[in-house]
Amino acid sequence: MITTFHKLERSIMKRILVHSAVLLIGVASVVVAAGQQPQTRQVIDVQKIADNYYVLTSSTPGSEATFSGGNVGVFITNSGVVLVDTKLAAWGQTFLDRVKSITTKPVTTIINTHSHGDHTGNDDKFGTSVEIVAQENTKANMAKLDAFKGDKARFLPKRTFRDKLSIGSGNEQIDLYYFGAGHTNGDAFVVFPSLRVLQTGDLFAWKDAPRIDRANGGSGVQYPQTLAKAVAALKNVDTVVPGHSPLLTLEDLQEYQRYTTDLLAAVQSARKAGKSAADAAASINLTDKYKAYKSERVKQAVQDIYDELNATPSR
Ligand SMILES: [Zn+2]
Repeated sequence: MITTFHKLERSIMKRILVHSAVLLIGVASVVVAAGQQPQTRQVIDVQKIADNYYVLTSSTPGSEATFSGGNVGVFITNSGVVLVDTKLAAWGQTFLDRVKSITTKPVTTIINTHSHGDHTGNDDKFGTSVEIVAQENTKANMAKLDAFKGDKARFLPKRTFRDKLSIGSGNEQIDLYYFGAGHTNGDAFVVFPSLRVLQTGDLFAWKDAPRIDRANGGSGVQYPQTLAKAVAALKNVDTVVPGHSPLLTLEDLQEYQRYTTDLLAAVQSARKAGKSAADAAASINLTDKYKAYKSERVKQAVQDIYDELNATPSR
């Protein structure tokens, strides 16, 4: 069932991509003809998961021309729209247009999975009456960003939580969890129990080594146990919306927990053997065991874990 769904989804996505490419070529030639700055350089796809829940898709960070920020969840309730994350500020207009294409209801709540600008970039685009919700460490991390200084401090989260918070009730309930440090020290997992959907933010962004933002309290050492807590706590989930990849499943999250465990163990043993971080990174191969994984971010993650271990003398 799940396999069929994913196959179908893949073929649909392929078709959407082809159409998007055609559309982009059309836009590009119009722009060139009119001699204007290109404004629609990328298409944010709208993916319907349920009648009241959509994902505004992401792509892998790296290319400025195509990267709009992380996956966004659009949850429609009787009283208004709940957004989970808000992409990059530079993609504000396209993002607002996509939300409007789904529903005419006003945005009433924004949940930020963490502080990074590709997840909080348009928090200020929906007025000051919107309730912004985040884990308490994420609020502190957001307060350090220029985007939330001065007048923009009005858009810092007013509602925060430490370990767990539920908002709404019945079919509209949303559960927010904090399981510990990983990508940052404030990553929220967001569960829609009625839909059996989980949004992980960048604690599970892709099938590759994690980005460990040590300046915002991220920890490669705690990463596996943080994910283990999540895996133990969250059972009633079918669909996982990762920070930056297409839809996955709870099994993929469980596999990611094992991946981060193996990555940490490999780094620790290489370090014990006296290897430099660069030599360790070159010697670590996890893709034999994790075939669907990329290794584009392994080098940086190994360096970050080395730095973290070196900063803690007892390790
Ligand atoms: Zn991030």
